[in-house]
Amino acid sequence: MKILIVEDDVNSRIYMERALTSQGYSVASAENGVVALEKAESSPPDLIISDIMMPEMDGFELCRRVKTDERLLDIPFVFYTATYVDQKDEKLGMALGASRFLIKPMELEELFCAIKAVIDENLQKSLVVPLQPLAGKTDLDRMQLEVLARKLDKKVRELEEEREALRRSEYLLAGQKRVLEMIAANAPLEDTLAALMNFLECGSDGIFGSILLLDEDGVHVRHGAAPSLPEAYIKAVDGAEIGPSAGSCGTAMFRCEPVIVTDILHDPLWEGYRDLIVPYGLHACWSTPILSHEGRVLGSFAMYYGEVRSPAPAEKHLVDIATHIASIAIEHHRAGEQIRKAASAAEAANRAKSQFLANMSHELRTPMAGVLGMLEIALGGPLEEEQRGFIEIAHRSGASLVHILNDILEMTKIEAGMLSLEDEPFVLRECVRSAVDIFESEARRKGLDLVLSLPDDLPERVVGDCLRLRQVLTNLVGNAVKFTERGRVEVRVSKGNIPAPGKREFTFNVTDTGVGISEDKKHLVFRSFSQADESHTRRYGGAGLGLAIGMGIVERMGGVLTFDCEEGVGCDFAFTVSLGETVKEPYLETADRTGGGH
Ligand code: ADP
Repeated sequence: MKILIVEDDVNSRIYMERALTSQGYSVASAENGVVALEKAESSPPDLIISDIMMPEMDGFELCRRVKTDERLLDIPFVFYTATYVDQKDEKLGMALGASRFLIKPMELEELFCAIKAVIDENLQKSLVVPLQPLAGKTDLDRMQLEVLARKLDKKVRELEEEREALRRSEYLLAGQKRVLEMIAANAPLEDTLAALMNFLECGSDGIFGSILLLDEDGVHVRHGAAPSLPEAYIKAVDGAEIGPSAGSCGTAMFRCEPVIVTDILHDPLWEGYRDLIVPYGLHACWSTPILSHEGRVLGSFAMYYGEVRSPAPAEKHLVDIATHIASIAIEHHRAGEQIRKAASAAEAANRAKSQFLANMSHELRTPMAGVLGMLEIALGGPLEEEQRGFIEIAHRSGASLVHILNDILEMTKIEAGMLSLEDEPFVLRECVRSAVDIFESEARRKGLDLVLSLPDDLPERVVGDCLRLRQVLTNLVGNAVKFTERGRVEVRVSKGNIPAPGKREFTFNVTDTGVGISEDKKHLVFRSFSQADESHTRRYGGAGLGLAIGMGIVERMGGVLTFDCEEGVGCDFAFTVSLGETVKEPYLETADRTGGGH
């Protein structure tokens, strides 16, 4: 038994094909009347099931052609349709000679029964199929035209509605995007909420939007945004309490559910607030609580209207958008505030720590100066060998304690942003050399080559802070000598670009062939009080402040301190800073020459 399905919607067609195949029918299909006619003529089916609205040739025309074609008129014809059906359609279909007029959706079982009944009727030839349709040709033409015109009319209306819905949803999406972008950019909360209300008001006629925020105490409300509500009303509501009958918003927040007041004038919920709003001609107010993601009430969103009215289903969509976005905005803002509070508390704690360290180091340095002074006097007098040894150790320990105290004091200055820099002319070679010279004897003792490489065209004099520059170099060279057991330590200076008129960049490298730093410890190097390898602390000593101070000073000079280290191979620490260039002054030239060069 072969059935021809005529249906333009591909999903419905496939669905029908599968359903009928499962019942043992052989199934052919066509997407419109023209294709169906061709198929029916080339291989006549035992039944045609057809939709009505289709491109090229609709179902009515197809039925009419089948039932007026001698070769096809015996084939029973069933309409199966869903689009804008009314009684006139059925009347026309049956007048054209159809056996059934079935309306979607239909239980499959019911559909199968109807199909089987039509086939059986046809087999028993109980179906009387007119060669000429039941009604007169002109009547049928008129009916067909009428029906199709009505269907087209409906389709046009439906398309227009769809277009309008599409326009609205595009508008809503664009508005939501704008507000979400403001949230992401951390715009002030009141601006974000006002933008949200503005876009809702512009998108729908006659709405006055309002957002109230619930205070931390969970009782008082604060003005959030209400760009079009009267100023006096906004003022009167700001600070009011929520409660079981506190207008629409106060009640919605209290009950934690939407409160729809369609007529403010007569609703008991507005008893205490009515006089505030009615003079402004507002008569309806629907309010919905704004909830946090955990379900806590954050505030309320309300839509006011100038007339007595109830919400339409489309307006529910607006409420969903407004409450959802307002909740994101409020939560985002509050989370940001908490972070800001936590950050400023952490900053205050850090400042207190720095202050404490600064005071302690300062207080300890004064008595330590006394201790060192006394030890030096003792060392200058007659001592037995053993006593001298003890006092020398005490003096060295005291000196290294003062060194650590100085470093702590220095670090607290850097952290407090109080490091000030000099801007004085100085002889660059001498500054660098003096930092290297300090370690000459230590390098010799360890059998290291300590090399200073200065380019020939290095300017004699530059302008900057010689002491600070030397301090950084001393820390770097000190580390290089400390962490190198054999090989060499090299200090290089190179001249770089001119970043601004009268300025010149200089790069300083301190390279060694020492223990290096392992990959997983590199991140610790610039942290205060931390050392890349704790075993080094025992072996080489140190408080872990030298590089942090060096970095602080270099950054203050507008540069960065970087390093390139490999474990077991060595390290290369480098920084680039710009220093002022000066014109030579004769008396300094002389001084330079006597200073000699490396
Ligand atoms: P310290 O007083 O411990 O030397 P620093 O801040 O100067 O403190 O250095 C921090 C850590 O970085 C050192 O403890 C060491 O582990 C590592 N480090 C610094 N310079 C070198 C270097 N030239 N070679 C190997 N390790 C180094």
